[in-house]
Amino acid sequence: MDEQEDKFQKMRLEMVEKQIESRGVKDQRILEVFRKVPRHKFVARNLQKQAYTDEPLPIGEGQSISQPYIVAYMTEQLKLGGGERVLEIGTGSGYQAAILAELCDSVFTIEILPDLSEHTAQTLQSLGYSNIQFKVGDGYRGWLEKAPFDAIIVTAAPDHVPQPLIGQLKIGGRMIIPIGEYYQELYLFRQTDEGLQKEKKLPVRFVPMRGEVDEH
Ligand code: SAH
Repeated sequence: MDEQEDKFQKMRLEMVEKQIESRGVKDQRILEVFRKVPRHKFVARNLQKQAYTDEPLPIGEGQSISQPYIVAYMTEQLKLGGGERVLEIGTGSGYQAAILAELCDSVFTIEILPDLSEHTAQTLQSLGYSNIQFKVGDGYRGWLEKAPFDAIIVTAAPDHVPQPLIGQLKIGGRMIIPIGEYYQELYLFRQTDEGLQKEKKLPVRFVPMRGEVDEH
């Protein structure tokens, strides 16, 4: 490993200990994945030194890569065991998709900005991820051809729950989603035999979901 990569590795271990583990994320599989995935490869060169700090970072086109702890927290809520098919809305930098790809069978990720989707698909391919499928489009409608999903993670904030996503969740499936306008709350939805269960989790700030969401 070269010296620079060695430095990033150290920063990554510290990030896991001080930002993620200390705040209560306990799943060992998840912690291991955060120690491994090179977050600095998902940001522009001039921001690589900040890649392991406790904050979101800009990724261009007004979008951002979420704070590491929030990525970990949302991932943990999905309770992935390894065999799942997971839908992500808002590919962005691809960091969340890479984390998911390490923890489940296949990831389906939708991004509304074509250039960003293409750039990120290349990044993930160059890192060797082969279980992620990309789609350019409006995630409000989900991905019907690939549904149903065991888990859904939404990383751009709508002001209401997109109904099509609920319909693409398997019984026993989970969806984690920020809902609100400027300030949002993370909600966990669970599809059960007795219907949909909803639980409010944490206050968060994500970029707003765009597109069809504004018509409803
Ligand atoms: N998961 C990302 C964070 C993405 S930021 C990561 O790990 O980096 C939110 C992303 O959602 C942005 O890239 C934005 O362009 C995208 N987005 C906004 N509205 C969308 C929509 N309706 N469908 C799909 N993607 C959307």
